[in-house]
Amino acid sequence: MAIVRIDNVSKRYMLGEQEVHALREVTLAIEPGVFLAVAGPSGSGKSTLLNIIGCIDTPSAGAVLIDGRDVSGRTPDELADLRARTIGFIFQTFNLLPVLSAEENVEFPLLQFRELSRAERAERVRHYLDMVGLARFAGHRPNQLSGGQRQRVAIARALATHSKVVLADEPTANLDRHTGEGILRLMKDINQKAGTTFIFSTHDKRVMNMADRLVRIDDGRLVALGVRTDGGWVMVNERRSSDEDPEI
Ligand code: ADP
Ligand code: MG
Repeated sequence: MAIVRIDNVSKRYMLGEQEVHALREVTLAIEPGVFLAVAGPSGSGKSTLLNIIGCIDTPSAGAVLIDGRDVSGRTPDELADLRARTIGFIFQTFNLLPVLSAEENVEFPLLQFRELSRAERAERVRHYLDMVGLARFAGHRPNQLSGGQRQRVAIARALATHSKVVLADEPTANLDRHTGEGILRLMKDINQKAGTTFIFSTHDKRVMNMADRLVRIDDGRLVALGVRTDGGWVMVNERRSSDEDPEI
């Protein structure tokens, strides 16, 4: 079963008098365990798509199913709970809390899980900081860490809640090439070892090429799907009508 399903999703924003079509009838099914890149030029709708998958924005039309559950018509509390237990976010600007240390940033989303004892929380924080190679930096605040290290903290924070899906909106855009590739390799490694589904957006071809699945969007439309094979990308090109069911 698809971990994320998007059925005929459109998103319109009003910008003054003008209507902006950020997404137009996007239909997509994402299988668990994929390492999927959402590629497209600036303004094509990548962030809108990720925000809708992550339930931090709602579609103007169409349905979103996360782990088999239709998320429309849920109360804000239900959505927040679903999000907290299913989805992790990694942002272009890291979005760490500046007054908290690395370990406190990773612990923060765990505080809402009443079932976790203090000791269990501490153990999880230690485990995930260790996974991203930052055990030694647990007590450092974000301003005492490099960009790459901050993004590693954000990855640990996204994983610590045992997210099934990690959404990363241009996670390497504020990093130099070498550091960005290291972050992608770390994400890929976790994807392969833990089976966590990663969906990341990028307009960088090198970053895109580290994915094993590709969704290309342009002007709010899904224009191509790609699957990586030993021989390179196999693209399922051109627009598909929404009655088809592209699985990627
Ligand atoms: P990308 O992430 O690919 O750069 P976005 O999803 O941010 O693209 O934006 C897609 C389109 O929707 C753009 O034209 C953008 O200006 C518009 N848009 C995004 N968010 C809003 C908003 N909150 N209000 C109005 N327009 C928006
Ligand atoms: Mg964006």
